[in-house]
Amino acid sequence: MTWDTIVVGAGIGGLVTATQLAAKGATVLVLEQYLIPGGSGGTFERPGYRFDVGASMIFGFGCQGTTNLLTRALAAVDMQLPTIPDPVQIHYHLPDGLNLKVHRQYEDFLQELIAQFPHEAKGIRQFYDACWRVFNCLNVMDLLSLEEPRYLARVFLQHPLACFGLLRYLPRNVGEIARRYIRDRRLLRFIDMECFCWSTVLAERTPMINAGMVFSDRHYGGVRYPQGGVGQIAQKLVEGLTHVGSSIRYKAKVRQILLEQGRAIGVQLTTGEKLYADRIVSNATRWDTFGKLLPDQTLPRSEVRWQQNYQQSPSFLSLHLGVNATVLPTTTECHHILLEDWQSMEQEQGTIFVSIPTLLDPTLAPPGKHIIHTFTPSWMSAWQGLSPTAYRAKKQRDADRLIQRLERLFPGLSAQITLQEVGTPRTHRRFLGRINGTYGPIPQRRLRGLLKMPFNRTSIKHLYCVGDSTFPGQGLNAVAFSGFACAHRIAADLRL
Ligand SMILES: Cc1cc2nc3c(=O)[nH]c(=O)nc-3n(C[C@H](O)[C@H](O)[C@H](O)COP(=O)(O)OP(=O)(O)OC[C@H]3O[C@@H](n4cnc5c(N)ncnc54)[C@H](O)[C@@H]3O)c2cc1C
Repeated sequence: MTWDTIVVGAGIGGLVTATQLAAKGATVLVLEQYLIPGGSGGTFERPGYRFDVGASMIFGFGCQGTTNLLTRALAAVDMQLPTIPDPVQIHYHLPDGLNLKVHRQYEDFLQELIAQFPHEAKGIRQFYDACWRVFNCLNVMDLLSLEEPRYLARVFLQHPLACFGLLRYLPRNVGEIARRYIRDRRLLRFIDMECFCWSTVLAERTPMINAGMVFSDRHYGGVRYPQGGVGQIAQKLVEGLTHVGSSIRYKAKVRQILLEQGRAIGVQLTTGEKLYADRIVSNATRWDTFGKLLPDQTLPRSEVRWQQNYQQSPSFLSLHLGVNATVLPTTTECHHILLEDWQSMEQEQGTIFVSIPTLLDPTLAPPGKHIIHTFTPSWMSAWQGLSPTAYRAKKQRDADRLIQRLERLFPGLSAQITLQEVGTPRTHRRFLGRINGTYGPIPQRRLRGLLKMPFNRTSIKHLYCVGDSTFPGQGLNAVAFSGFACAHRIAADLRL
């Protein structure tokens, strides 16, 4: 059998591409190396507990506008998912006693920030209002493929002002806009952290388009947790995919993308089996796609340029903990960022991220218990070349240190842990198939906003990429955008 499209990988990017195409009538086969779908947006279980692999602060589940891409992706295959609104996006615990919450209500957040920086009241409003301008432009247009000229023409005709608004911000980074309105150095450090916690780079390198989405949607559609765990998004997409007649295979690791006269025609699995399709989509990172799945190719010039512009972000040291519920103070929020010293924000195991999804959905843990998922940036280089004993010892040592630091938020934590799983960059590489376990691409230097981020087509005919190494980057809602765009471009190519 030949499919219209084979998608390599069942991350959210791959699944949105597949469901969008299947909903348009294409026959699609998704090949996933692992046992379950979702990739970094998946779930794993331990007796009594259901943990999120990575993502747990979820945007894109709003009910209005056009930027609610997860809601829309599910609806396209007649699926929906109950979600639980989170009243606070993040509780920041930062150096110099900077302790504040990003409330769901925009004005509440502004008031809390202005109370810390009263002399910057005007600049704070001007900066976040600029983010809203970006968001409002995005939120009126269908978010599809910027590689499709007829779509671009239609959007320009329908929303000329929004398009000009976006064009203004497309080549800009957050740092430049923030410095236009804000002088206080500590406040600028806070804006750096507001960016770093999802882009893993400082404001100077974070594209304004992405910031417009994150800094506004948290007050618009809001952050919402999918009932039953983040993995439900992927499960529902798979259910929808199969309902419309397409299919997915697990434990199907693609070793190679097959080419004929420079055109992608199929894939070969590690078992040797060959499968063919008109179009091939890779949901692996671009480094893995061109470095591993197309190993004998000379790296195309466009990919060389991309690699010159973007480097791999760090991976993470991740702890998935089951804890006694009594250890959490009663007012604890779901998501936290902890940093003790501004200088360590970008360093190995500097910033600490914490999510406690059981505060929103208690069914993820046994009664009287909570889940704490905590992670901190870590590079593969810190974990390579170790003997198995040294690797295990480092895992334990680094995990203990992380827990010790968390005692500041949750006093007595180390004595209340009932279950502990430690993941390192090696774990992320192994289970997610991502080079060095990377979280995704980050600019090598200050680039002009999102202008250099590649779209879905590649220089190899009939081969497309989707996911966080394509426009507009990391995050579940962002890779859903990439999936919509990829499917749109392929549908146009296949005349669906
Ligand atoms: C610790 C952590 C926390 C995060 N927190 C958040 C958050 O709170 N909110 C948010 O929005 N985002 C968050 N993210 C980012 C978000 O999870 C990712 O940006 C997004 O899930 C990436 O999706 P993707 O489709 O690009 O790829 P992936 O999720 O990497 O999926 C790719 C899939 O392809 C499969 N695959 C790869 N190679 C092959 C092959 N050769 N053959 C077959 N299958 C293959 C993999 O197994 C995987 O399932 C977080 C990420 C991490 C790691």
